[in-house]
Amino acid sequence: LYLDAPLGSGLPVALDGDRAHYLRAVLRLEPGARLLAFNGRDGEWLVEVTRLSKSGGEAACLERVRPQVPDNGPWLLFAPLKGGRTEYVVEKAVELGAGLLQPTYTRRGDVARVNLDRLRANAVEAAEQCERLSVPEVRDGQPLDRLLAGWDPGRILFVAAESGRAEPMVTAVTARKAQPAAFLVGPEGGFDARELDALNTLPFVVPVGLGPRVLRADTAGFAALAVWQALAGD
Ligand code: SAM
Repeated sequence: LYLDAPLGSGLPVALDGDRAHYLRAVLRLEPGARLLAFNGRDGEWLVEVTRLSKSGGEAACLERVRPQVPDNGPWLLFAPLKGGRTEYVVEKAVELGAGLLQPTYTRRGDVARVNLDRLRANAVEAAEQCERLSVPEVRDGQPLDRLLAGWDPGRILFVAAESGRAEPMVTAVTARKAQPAAFLVGPEGGFDARELDALNTLPFVVPVGLGPRVLRADTAGFAALAVWQALAGD
């Protein structure tokens, strides 16, 4: 269970209305129930529910069962997709260890805004489901050119590109796996020529290929994260 509160020996933890509702109405728990909680900072804790009502509740921290581990997963910059597939990208990217999720607006993208609250809730649920001890930040959507203008050049940007002078992903990641990294995946219509030209002039950009087939945009993001996990993940 994700709790946005400090966790520590003997600490009481307030449960807001949403969390209390989830414990009462969905998990059907009562005071005295024990469960595992994390907050992204203090590791995983066994907590006991001490009070539970419609409007909120409280739990007490009993003991720490897992220490917090550093979470240096690669960022995923992705063009938001139609028909619930943006939510799906967030869910799977959290499972695959992405360190930050950045919806990215590109010229051929067909989604102009994202529901940030919903995406953040998806990230929390996915972290809970996969027993990850942190919830990656989901940032609000930004145009690609603005992201590139403010980019920290110390972070490599692997750009998934199905054609052109792309290095195979495995070779590219193996050679640079000690560096902070991000992946950029285009929309279903692909990047346009001006975007590709701009990307190709940037010193921190490495175009990478994921094989000879044209993958759907969501598949490309998952494949990139899975390759990174296999080569550089913990
Ligand atoms: N019609 C587009 C085109 O030909 O440019 C296809 C875009 S593809 C459906 C969506 C995105 O997935 C691409 O912009 C790229 O970032 C990524 N992608 C798809 N297949 C890939 C591959 N084999 N290697 C690397 N990236 C790929």
